[in-house]
Amino acid sequence: MTLHLPFDNSYATLPQRFFTLQAPEPVGTPRLIRFNHALADELGIDDGDPDMLARIFSGNETPEGAMPLAQAYAGHQFGGFSPQLGDGRAVLLGEVVDRAGHRRDIALKGSGRTPYSRMGDGRAWLGPVLREYVLSEAMHAMGIPTTRALAAVATGDPVYREQGALPGAVLTRVAASHIRVGTFEFFAARRDLEALEALFNYTRDRHYPDAADPAEMLDAVIDRQAALVADWLAAGFIHGVMNTDNTTLSGETIDYGPAAFMDAYHPVTVYSSIDRYGRYAYDQQGQIIAWNLAQLASALVPLMPDQDAAVTQFTQMIHSMPARVEGERRLRFRRKLGLASHEGGDTALIEDLLKLMQDHGADFTNTFRGLADGTARDQFADPSGFDAWATRWQDRIAREDDPQGLMRATNPAIIPRNHRVEQMIQSATRGDFAPFERLVEALSHPFDDHVDDADLKRPPEPHEEVKQTFCG
Ligand code: AMP
Ligand code: MG
Ligand code: MG
Repeated sequence: MTLHLPFDNSYATLPQRFFTLQAPEPVGTPRLIRFNHALADELGIDDGDPDMLARIFSGNETPEGAMPLAQAYAGHQFGGFSPQLGDGRAVLLGEVVDRAGHRRDIALKGSGRTPYSRMGDGRAWLGPVLREYVLSEAMHAMGIPTTRALAAVATGDPVYREQGALPGAVLTRVAASHIRVGTFEFFAARRDLEALEALFNYTRDRHYPDAADPAEMLDAVIDRQAALVADWLAAGFIHGVMNTDNTTLSGETIDYGPAAFMDAYHPVTVYSSIDRYGRYAYDQQGQIIAWNLAQLASALVPLMPDQDAAVTQFTQMIHSMPARVEGERRLRFRRKLGLASHEGGDTALIEDLLKLMQDHGADFTNTFRGLADGTARDQFADPSGFDAWATRWQDRIAREDDPQGLMRATNPAIIPRNHRVEQMIQSATRGDFAPFERLVEALSHPFDDHVDDADLKRPPEPHEEVKQTFCG
């Protein structure tokens, strides 16, 4: 007996230079860690027994209808262009059209070497696999567009990293697509107009059916990415490695390598060990997404009939992007303060609170959630500044219908705190998956009160603090 996955593959019909057909490399002793039954149901995948799921979602057994392939792409990494990246440790098994009619990619990450592996081993260790599982599912539960986690499987094989031998794992990732800014850059850099045109048509049909031309698609991508980055800022999320190969055309968050949520609010927070100059710091993300979409714009210019005019038009669009992100950000922070309407002093109210939080090292999540619960004041050792601010804020929310409801729906009580994620990974590495299961469960309903999860809501003690995260 095998699992039925209703594959309907379209990427495989694109020209051969878009990908390399590549089967996953078998693993030693696959063991299912977790299967996302709710997501499987959305995708029309029936259930199977754990051993079968482990075989399929480790890559040891290829389900009927799958056509595994590694996608080609390029990308700007920390500002420098790499013309040849591609799936170095992932394969797209295929696509399914979900119950809602949306086409979704099903991909294995950590599935072995491909022609794009360069010096890498094609593998992932347990830590980043569980981190992505927890963070991506938490983001989804907060309503933020993201790739999803369908399964995590332990391979039984060691993976060698700086820390030594670590347990290997494979993540099954579900995405609206894996088309990246770097996919467009791949063909633009090669002056492969035919492929660029095919990619544009494919992307338009899949994500932006109303876009008449590349300019309209660019405009729509800017909208989605501006909203996405504003969602990140409102959640205190730092992606950590916003290279153009990690920026999707779909507008979903992708690639949770060193991603983290901040505890104490500070605008220049950085966790990623490789981001030494803070290029991808919390408050840089709005600028960086504009920079990334400028690379997309450049790649689209050759498709425009009047290229000089397109350069002028695209430049204006890109220059407008930071303001678009800022507009989306203010909308979200107004809601975090309980403000459904918009009045003149609202921006000052937002920025003044953030400044107080920064000065006092207030916890981002607990301060905002505390506005609804009446505990925000506790975040400030000297509350006089907060009290003065709160008087202004009380006056303002008196003119709102349901500020409590809005705040409770926009400010999560619980986030995947970095130190809890690291502790969960350490436990799992020792074979104890209970903290992983608990985090996934608690984070599946982040806006509930979580009275029994006080430990998960607490910011780290100084000795628990995790200052750096790694790509894995
Ligand atoms: P990332 O930083 O995860 O976005 O990955 C950047 C590039 O490095 C992509 O082309 C990945 O496929 C590749 N890569 C990352 N880790 C590995 C690995 N262990 N083996 C092979 N390729 C990898
Ligand atoms: Mg990546
Ligand atoms: Mg990565």
